[in-house]
Amino acid sequence: MNRTIGATKLCTVVLLALALSACGGGDSSTDAADNDESAAKSAMDAVKDAASDVADAAGSAVDSAKDVADAAADAVSDAADDAADMASDAMDDAKDAADAAVDAVADAADSAADMASDAMDSAKDAAGAAVAAVTGDDPCALAISAGDGIAYSASSMSAPSSCSTITVTLTHTGSLPKEAMGHNWVLMPADAADAVAAMGMSAGVEGNYVPADDRVVAATDLVGGGESASVSFDASKLEAGTDYVYVCTFPGHWTIMKGTFSITG
Ligand code: ZN
Repeated sequence: MNRTIGATKLCTVVLLALALSACGGGDSSTDAADNDESAAKSAMDAVKDAASDVADAAGSAVDSAKDVADAAADAVSDAADDAADMASDAMDDAKDAADAAVDAVADAADSAADMASDAMDSAKDAAGAAVAAVTGDDPCALAISAGDGIAYSASSMSAPSSCSTITVTLTHTGSLPKEAMGHNWVLMPADAADAVAAMGMSAGVEGNYVPADDRVVAATDLVGGGESASVSFDASKLEAGTDYVYVCTFPGHWTIMKGTFSITG
């Protein structure tokens, strides 16, 4: 507004000065010169006023520009604050999302670990069942073997006292026939071994080299290579405080093929 007024005044004054100058040109009278001088002074004053107005207007414009700049600076500052707040909120959201993701991964890992553990247990159970199926899970069922040599696979055997019936299976892992390298498994009190073995000689292969004697607690048939035989007996036939032995009564074997039999627990 001030600048517009100032500019208009300046133009008017300039035009006036130009007009006076044009009109006064060529007039040689003193009055005319005085008039010209006065007019020029007035014109100069007007120009000065106009210049002052222009300066005022310019100052106002500068003030306005400063205000605008301040306002802009405030706006920029506010915007920066808002942006910072938004960024902070976004960071918080990102942190929450990351925490949730970590939790989810941890849960998934736990689940996977549990599943793996369960799978391991299942595999162990399956393996245990397979082993039980092969070896037998009955502690009252015992096994022993002998090959083409004069030797048992074990020099002692035992069964738990919880067994009411005990079963022993003898397997001949060799290839020689029972007439040449026969084996049996005969259980008796330790102090009867000599006599029972001696009597067994007369029983012959047909009689499995086992005599009909009350001291014999249990006896398998005589077996040759690739054969096996089992015998089951009542555990109550074993007397507490008596030492028992098992022997092979095939002629010439019993002094070597001998082991101790005991009840445990
Ligand atoms: Zn034998």
